[in-house]
Amino acid sequence: MRYLILSDIHANLTALDTCLQAAQGRWEKAVCLGDVVGYGPDPNEVIDRVRSIEAITIRGNHDKASSGIADAEDFNPVARVAALWTREELRPENHEWLEKLPLGPLQVDGFHIVHGALHDEDEYLLAPAQALDSLADAPSPVTFFGHTHVQGGFVLQDDKVGVLQFKHVGGDLFTTLDIDPVATYMINPGSVGQPRDGDTRAAFAIADLPNKRVELWRVPYNIGEVQKRMEKNGLPEPLILRLSFGR
Ligand code: ZN
Repeated sequence: MRYLILSDIHANLTALDTCLQAAQGRWEKAVCLGDVVGYGPDPNEVIDRVRSIEAITIRGNHDKASSGIADAEDFNPVARVAALWTREELRPENHEWLEKLPLGPLQVDGFHIVHGALHDEDEYLLAPAQALDSLADAPSPVTFFGHTHVQGGFVLQDDKVGVLQFKHVGGDLFTTLDIDPVATYMINPGSVGQPRDGDTRAAFAIADLPNKRVELWRVPYNIGEVQKRMEKNGLPEPLILRLSFGR
């Protein structure tokens, strides 16, 4: 079974639809690692789309803040403005869907999905030392995580933690990671709607674990179109600008 792995869509419908178009015909089931909304201008449209592809979805910190099950007090001011704006925008059925999203880790067909770290949905796995606990305790050989908006990850092999970084060369839209059956992986597909790894293109992954392959994708999308909708809705300027830099 091939899985489409989406994360951190952040209410960016243009990026999501561009990813779905690029991935068309290449997957059978979809999962989403949280932060469906927050920051972006299309919360209802993105939730509708995620529901329509029946993606198995866990919650992220922005989903909690935007549905109101967590307050947005510990968010930075611009993230808080966006979370409160999202809360107002959500149609009742989408608000309810968001509120009921399960907490990770969640087992899916031989792999696991989490938002942040294995034991803490709000923790950022940016460095190998931070990933060690998640790797050591991982209940399956491959776990997908999000939250950092950085495509890549970590691998535990012979008691050593290695960093996974993917370079997209030439015009290739994806690069393939071959899974070593005796290693343990934490893999981040990157963020669909607000990349922060210096690459402005939307990121996602397609996992074919029975064949020991994970494809890490990057696709360019119309950023200006999204920025216009953010402006129209009065979303904070730093959030609009950062899409142009992938930071
Ligand atoms: Zn996020």
